Amino acid sequence: MIPTPPPRSVVILGGGTAGWMAANLLQQRWGGSGTTVTLIESKDIGIIGVGEGSTPQLKAFFDELGVGEAEWMPRCNATYKAGIEFVGWSDKPGSERYFHPFATAVDPFTEQTFFQAAALRRRGAAVPAHPDPFFLTTRIARDCRAPLAPANFPFPVQYGYHFDAYLVGATLREIAVGRGVRHEIATIAEVVLGETGDIASLRSDDGRDFAADLFLDASGFRATLIEGALGEPHRGFGDNLFNDSAVVTPTPLPPDGAKAMTSATAASAGWIWHIPLTTRAGNGYVYSSRYIDRDDAAAELRRHCGLPPDAEVRHLSMKCGRVERSWVKNCLAIGLAQGFLEPLEATALHIVLATVKGFTDAWERGDRDGFNASIARRYEGIRDYVVCHYRMAQRRDTDYWRDATSHDRLSDSLKSIITTWFTGGDLEEEVHRQDIAAYYSPMSWHVMLAGYGNFPPPEKLQPLAPSPVDLAEVDRFVSGCALNFPSHAEVLSRLAAAKAA
Ligand SMILES: Cc1cc2nc3c(=O)[nH]c(=O)nc-3n(C[C@H](O)[C@H](O)[C@H](O)COP(=O)(O)OP(=O)(O)OC[C@H]3O[C@@H](n4cnc5c(N)ncnc54)[C@H](O)[C@@H]3O)c2cc1C
Repeated sequence: MIPTPPPRSVVILGGGTAGWMAANLLQQRWGGSGTTVTLIESKDIGIIGVGEGSTPQLKAFFDELGVGEAEWMPRCNATYKAGIEFVGWSDKPGSERYFHPFATAVDPFTEQTFFQAAALRRRGAAVPAHPDPFFLTTRIARDCRAPLAPANFPFPVQYGYHFDAYLVGATLREIAVGRGVRHEIATIAEVVLGETGDIASLRSDDGRDFAADLFLDASGFRATLIEGALGEPHRGFGDNLFNDSAVVTPTPLPPDGAKAMTSATAASAGWIWHIPLTTRAGNGYVYSSRYIDRDDAAAELRRHCGLPPDAEVRHLSMKCGRVERSWVKNCLAIGLAQGFLEPLEATALHIVLATVKGFTDAWERGDRDGFNASIARRYEGIRDYVVCHYRMAQRRDTDYWRDATSHDRLSDSLKSIITTWFTGGDLEEEVHRQDIAAYYSPMSWHVMLAGYGNFPPPEKLQPLAPSPVDLAEVDRFVSGCALNFPSHAEVLSRLAAAKAA
């Protein structure tokens, strides 16, 4: 098969994180073949300016661009992220908090013991099955270390980052422009369609026309091209993901400095993130406006953060769901224009990267339908994991939590995962059978379901002697591995010093 040649020209509408990430990737992939990449952003329409946590795919992105951590992290006040701590999502004794770790190459030494412990506990044996002791990145984060494997520890460790969204945008812009991406400041007022229904050009409010072979819609929740001009329907996820709003505020860093983790603390009608950067912490209450109004949400956030009642906050609305198809005619939607799952697992930038990379491959193969189907599967796969957080949480103290934990609007895939868990089946096999491990691995599913304490009640558990789970042995292994890792604060100061030098 002869691959389709790259487009001669690409126009990206939108200079948020999504637009600038795509500009860098397209320039890298197609710039050498003569494709011109132009990014248009409006000086009157701002970027959303939140989105401060990533998955490990952001590291792969910077690695691919050849941009080192010393180059970008200090400029973006960035810290390391070894995973997410969930606090208060369960009121079962012993399950008040758990950590969803990023994977490492040493997990196989302890993971099977954890899976086995969880399976025995599901079937009624009194064995320890809380996930935290079993995973290295959990220990790294809790011990205030950085997830950076030293040279004498030759086992790869996955990690993500926390960062200032505005500074990352500015850094990506500088890199892209330095590599040849054209940058235009213009507010697009009209989308001109050609006879075939493709986009012919974008017309700015001062009368300039921007024509191209291919357009990327990175215009944020407005979705100006994909929904506005091309009329692609938006499929909302409100049925089983209730949160539609957020209120955010910064706080000073805690006295023990930045830990390499995001925390997600359950609140009366949603949850509150805490993301430590090098200069401040970002906090945000993601909530459902059906269950709490914005003033009460702001008051709850301020109380949670220990702030005075008049502390300044910023309110945001969220449009959760995705466009039916991401690639329509000669337009690819990315970022918030493409879709948004609420930020519990911080997957938005990860989806931008997967979309742009998947798209360039599919463009060259000429496989639009296959690409659109794979993006839809990715959204649904991630959505199910996020839905499961709510459905299987163990608190019932407000209407929000009673509704979120009791509805039956679950996909068949998720129903099957939950059934496998509660009937004592092989969850690892089920995740592979469904071919959904690329979105969330068997480790992630086990950690969540066990982390919330989804087990028979203590009075129904039978002692098992001898216990097949030797927690002391697991702890010796995990804590021994963790000793190899440097302090988070030290690594961040080294990066800052390298920048200053
Ligand atoms: C509460 C909340 C928390 C989040 N947390 C996370 C997280 O932890 N991790 C994560 O990965 N993601 C997170 N996200 C998502 C993340 O913020 C976005 O995916 C990311 O910022 C990319 O946004 P964007 O570039 O698509 O849109 P935006 O930042 O909104 O940018 C839109 C751009 O389009 C331009 N534009 C729009 N209309 C026009 C026009 N007519 N003419 C010219 N220019 C135009 C604007 O000027 C702007 O440059 C979060 C989102 C929300 C709402």
